[in-house]
Amino acid sequence: MNDTFSSLELESSLVEGIDSLGFEKMTPVQSEAIPSALSGRDIIACAQTGTGKTAAYLIPTLQHILKNKTEGHSCLILVPTRELAVQIDQQITGLGYFTGLSSFPIYGGNNSENFSAQKKALDNKSEFIVATPGRLIMLMKLGRAHFNAIDHFILDEADKMLEMGFIEDITYIEKQLPEKKQTMMFSATMPPKIRHLAKKILHNPIEVNIAVSKLAGGISEEFYLVGEPGKIPLLEHLVTKREEIGRMIIFTGRKDSADQIKRNLSRRGIKAKTLHSGKEQEEREKTLMDFKNKKLQFLVATNVVSRGIDIEGISHVLNYDVPQDPEDYIHRAGRTARADKTGKAITFINQEDQKNILKLENLNGKKTEFMSLPEDLKQFQMEWSAREKKPFRGKGKKNFRKKPFRKKR
Ligand code: AMP
Repeated sequence: MNDTFSSLELESSLVEGIDSLGFEKMTPVQSEAIPSALSGRDIIACAQTGTGKTAAYLIPTLQHILKNKTEGHSCLILVPTRELAVQIDQQITGLGYFTGLSSFPIYGGNNSENFSAQKKALDNKSEFIVATPGRLIMLMKLGRAHFNAIDHFILDEADKMLEMGFIEDITYIEKQLPEKKQTMMFSATMPPKIRHLAKKILHNPIEVNIAVSKLAGGISEEFYLVGEPGKIPLLEHLVTKREEIGRMIIFTGRKDSADQIKRNLSRRGIKAKTLHSGKEQEEREKTLMDFKNKKLQFLVATNVVSRGIDIEGISHVLNYDVPQDPEDYIHRAGRTARADKTGKAITFINQEDQKNILKLENLNGKKTEFMSLPEDLKQFQMEWSAREKKPFRGKGKKNFRKKPFRKKR
């Protein structure tokens, strides 16, 4: 397969944008999706963040709009989170820098000033609208969205949107768009509900499958069996003793646990900030910016940032707990070692996490090797017991509740 951008015969202003971002050749998802998308076909693609999927749908869409400019918004991109909306908006600005095409992100949770700006943007007719479904519907219902010129509809991280309960919103929005349009759906996983949605909204799509449910090559892993009380001391040990630690994201499943970790770290003189959905939008943006700009070394985050967020130069990801879904482990770890660099994913495993590590072993097809704890933390060392556990058999026959017997009438 030809993986050079020159084989695509793109408009020169778009080629300039691609060059300025330093893209030399297409990534696999791009060389599979872009030619079909340029020919106008609908696409369903299974591709994760980090594969170059955003440019895989932006490049052909920018090309179409350049060739066929009409009045009004041409492309609507739906995404699950505000952060992803902002990031895609930035990629459109980068790729489209020399094209004169513009984009505007629309997302909820911000102040009224931003809300007015978003209403205005919908009046301004920027070619691209990148939106989270909830806020977009709000504006649509206020009569502020005029989508009669939309001829490109893109769903990014579709699985995450469904997981967040946006299915009805997506269907509602899709129904308001013109029937004749190109639709592309990108998803990190392809559960049956995604296939079902695809059947409803895509027409004879080309399937692109870059399912890489495995870690990028540059990531090395470390696993520690450690009881809950030992996690903070071990974290402190790692960040103070390991010179190679640059910036680190500490992931945890819950907001309250993120706040707790931050407090415990600051008690030990380690400055960290938290990023989760309980924070105000402005604060989230400022934290992310500080982390991007290297003003902040430690970020404690929930899964909100495990997908989609592309920050270069994160040397370590630390899983303070093991995510239930092994795909989330891959996404979390994938925040390090971006763009072929190397990075480390460290994972703390307590008694409860052991079953989730088993799921990960199934996905990876390999056994987990555990690190031993440093000498002074040995009292927190736990034994690996998940493997020996007998399968759960319930409470036995005598507690088994039969269905109430119903008399036939
Ligand atoms: P994505 O999977 O869309 O989040 O992209 C991950 C990263 O890869 C982003 O930083 C992109 O700018 C970068 N990227 C996308 N396409 C290419 C390419 N063809 N060559 C080099 N980097 C790329």
